[in-house]
Amino acid sequence: MLPGVDEPLVTRMRPFGETIFAEMSRLAAETGAVNLGQGFPDTDGPASLLEAAARHIREGVNQYPPGPGRPELRSAVAADRKRRYGIDLDPASEVYITVGATAGIASGVLGLVESGDEVVVFEPMYDSYAAVIALAGGVRRAVTLRPDPEAGGRFTFDPAELRAAVGPRTRMVVVNSPHNPTGTVFTRDELSAIAQVCRDNDLIALTDEVYEHLVYDGTEHHPLSTLPGMAERTLAVSSVGKTFSVTAWKTGWVMGPEPLVRAARTVNQFLTFTANGALQLAVADALRDEGEWVLGQRAALEGKRDRLCAGLRAAGLEVLRPQGTYFVITDIRPLGYSDGIELARSLPHAAGVAAVPAQVLYDNTDEGRHLVRFAFCKRDEVLDTAVERLVAALAG
Ligand SMILES: *Cc1c(COP(=O)(O)O)cnc(C)c1O
Repeated sequence: MLPGVDEPLVTRMRPFGETIFAEMSRLAAETGAVNLGQGFPDTDGPASLLEAAARHIREGVNQYPPGPGRPELRSAVAADRKRRYGIDLDPASEVYITVGATAGIASGVLGLVESGDEVVVFEPMYDSYAAVIALAGGVRRAVTLRPDPEAGGRFTFDPAELRAAVGPRTRMVVVNSPHNPTGTVFTRDELSAIAQVCRDNDLIALTDEVYEHLVYDGTEHHPLSTLPGMAERTLAVSSVGKTFSVTAWKTGWVMGPEPLVRAARTVNQFLTFTANGALQLAVADALRDEGEWVLGQRAALEGKRDRLCAGLRAAGLEVLRPQGTYFVITDIRPLGYSDGIELARSLPHAAGVAAVPAQVLYDNTDEGRHLVRFAFCKRDEVLDTAVERLVAALAG
């Protein structure tokens, strides 16, 4: 018998089994259900982007790019940040390319959080945060986002709860806006409250801005680093997957002051070393040239949000309308259900639709027990089929 073969997985990763996204996608495939669980689009990104990638591969861009990323992409990211938000970044030392935002987040947390440090996160939270904080030996302190009835069910936080979550061991606050899964885009006031807490307690902010372009109803995304005193303490992360509907490309970047970027880079050079060079070149051009495509995509997604929200309401769910991202959270209690995991596990068989229970994205699971997330980044006919099935199965 080898030692530790019964449970060879390290202790700190034992709470993390198969993700709920994998489980729901598998259930969807087994039952032929419409998969509104995992958030990936079913249409392609801009043609010029796809063609450029193919061309670069054909023309021999197939060996290791420089560790920090292709200079063309680092410059394009810095120029894009400057153009849209007025942020100044040195492409050589303040932008670093990673294998998707996921690797950027992991490198940032592993490079900046000491074992025993506390990290404040807003829940429900994107699932990779909990896992990488655990890998770093960090301790999560969750601040709950709750629907505000006065604001049409928009999720927000209580600044007093944020302040109370911070203590002497707190090192970092992770801020995801536009927020997956609630669709909340933090306002200037909300960001100011976060910035105040960061400045008062000398904290690092790690911002996940992968949905920065996917905001609706004229809502604006403001990077936290644009607030007073925040540029020097914020490591920002974004990526190409959501912006250009190429979630398989896993090309992202971290941005911020050189010491923070260097911390992420020091870790990342031993995780993945580099990311795909041909894709980096293609993305560099798209960031500069495909702004119109992104605006069109945003408008299309806004329509899809409205389409799915209306359908979910017709099926009897309470819809908590998002301002951004691909996702809409629903409250299942008006239909007489109380456990989102139970409902999400039964929906593929019972209704032919897969969704994700939000509860798995909470540390305080009671806060999210009755919430289920649906993705609307699908073709209209796919959304319509899902809605017909849900109405037939639920609203009867
Ligand atoms: C999709 C997603 C990511 C991962 O982005 P990749 O570039 O695919 O690694 C990170 N954060 C959030 C909130 C996401 O929804």
